[in-house]
Amino acid sequence: MKKLINSPRHVVTEMLEGLVALSPCLALLEGETVVVRNDAPLVDKVALISGGGSGHEPAHAGYVGPGMLTAAVAGDVFTSPATDAVLAAIRAVAGPPGVLLIVKNYTGDRLNFGLAAELARAEGIPVEMVVVDDDVALAAAGSYAGRRGLAGTVLVHKIAGAAAERGMKLSEVKRAAEGVIADLGTMGVALTPCTVPAAGRPGFSLGEEEIELGLGIHGEAGVRREQIAPVDALVDEMLGRIVADRGIAAGESVALLVNGLGGTPAMELAIVARSALAWLQRRDITVARAWAGSFLTALEMAGCSLSLLLVDAERIALLDAAARAVAWPGSPRAAATLDRPKMAAFGAQRAASTAGRPGKLGPVLRAVSAALRREEHRLTELDRAVGDGDLGISLARGAEAMERDMAGYDLMNPASTLRAMSATMMRALGGTSGPLYAAFLLRAAGAMDAVQIDDATGWVAAFQKGIDAVAELGGAAPGDRTMLDALYPACGELQDALAAGEPPRKALLRGVAAAREGASQTATWTARKGRSSYLGERALGHPDPGAAAVVVWLEAIREAVG
Ligand code: ADP
Ligand code: MG
Repeated sequence: MKKLINSPRHVVTEMLEGLVALSPCLALLEGETVVVRNDAPLVDKVALISGGGSGHEPAHAGYVGPGMLTAAVAGDVFTSPATDAVLAAIRAVAGPPGVLLIVKNYTGDRLNFGLAAELARAEGIPVEMVVVDDDVALAAAGSYAGRRGLAGTVLVHKIAGAAAERGMKLSEVKRAAEGVIADLGTMGVALTPCTVPAAGRPGFSLGEEEIELGLGIHGEAGVRREQIAPVDALVDEMLGRIVADRGIAAGESVALLVNGLGGTPAMELAIVARSALAWLQRRDITVARAWAGSFLTALEMAGCSLSLLLVDAERIALLDAAARAVAWPGSPRAAATLDRPKMAAFGAQRAASTAGRPGKLGPVLRAVSAALRREEHRLTELDRAVGDGDLGISLARGAEAMERDMAGYDLMNPASTLRAMSATMMRALGGTSGPLYAAFLLRAAGAMDAVQIDDATGWVAAFQKGIDAVAELGGAAPGDRTMLDALYPACGELQDALAAGEPPRKALLRGVAAAREGASQTATWTARKGRSSYLGERALGHPDPGAAAVVVWLEAIREAVG
């Protein structure tokens, strides 16, 4: 277990102390793991208390603040807080309008919050409790404890919080919360398990390609194990289930909450959101409000959950009402749609403006593209060893873009084709390789202006010019462990072979062999340029990925020409 902690026994108190220290509006109840608004008790408003086991940060302490919760009770990691702690929270924040407890449906939470409510009522404090059970992965009826409470709980906090802030009575706030719970569905998918600090090892194990669908938020396994699939397929499965279960139909409006489980990058959450918006749009379900972020997590688990809540104008107003809790996004939201026609029209215009002509270069470019795509995985692995692992996908993306754009290239004209390829690479290829290849192709294009398509010496001279451009732009020298260490030997060998009167086919054979030799030599050097230069000695034994890529496309040209 590798965690930024002092001791598993102190994670909850140290976390709460840190959190409260950062927020001027929060305070910790003396001797308790309870976070309260520092202006509690509220004399004229219903107080809201939620909580449960820790490990779901920013839930629930992050939702304490005006317009949301009044207090949050934290148990040990994935363990219900004790009755005493809940009772202390109730006593601390209750004013005359009373208290609503918002509890997720787990046996421990129900019992401890329920008993605390009972005890508080005996003391004369008006207390009500609602239980959130938004998990649609489990069937509604059964002999087990019922559906679990998941990330949809945060929307209950928001709507009940806004209702209380408006000054509604306890019974009204409770009714608003119960209405939300009835119209709320959540389903999740886990890509990795998580490790409870006190346990020291993951709660379950997943194979490299496996995912767990319909999981809970306590590191417990889900209802079904499957192979990882593109996100669109996973979103389809999750939303299909929620919509069927909650009876959400075309023409209705929903709020969408895309929730990261703790170990999921914002990038992936945005991709999930995009996919979910498209799915709902196709079914004519209006997404009145949408959020993506890590709202209710399971420690460092990778994965996400999707929640849908049916909304009307009243609920939208409550969702929109201002709230000042650290974990609730402050920026206002509007209805979310995916508006893609604009981009499509832009692309179409571009393609139409340059009419394509068939030509000799087509088969060569197609061969280069096929080879780069075929070798994507190997190049990725090489870049992973010494760089950031994006070279394979980056070059494959460039290859795909080239195939798409090829219809617009003038394939009888080398200079024009190289120039157009440069534009394609500039647009489609990222990283360091992108600009370097764009410069390479542009400089080579200039050298091909007056050269016939069959002039091998002219091609090699243009190759040399292109390499010069890479060297100038990148500032690397031979031996720096870059693509130049394949390009220079290849070009030298091509020049020598042609000068010696060898036919182009033979010259290319020698050129490719020299590139290959140069690329494999890079494995014996430490890096001075490029990203692998950060690795120093660690790069030893791994060939430079950029140099390996040069071998791939040169070899493809050789095969296509020969
Ligand atoms: P990154 O991910 O580092 O931005 P890429 O993955 O696109 O870059 O490309 C990595 C390859 O780029 C390296 O393997 C190396 O061959 C090449 N490269 C890096 N720096 C230079 C440079 N200054 N000159 C020439 N080639 C370079
Ligand atoms: Mg890279």
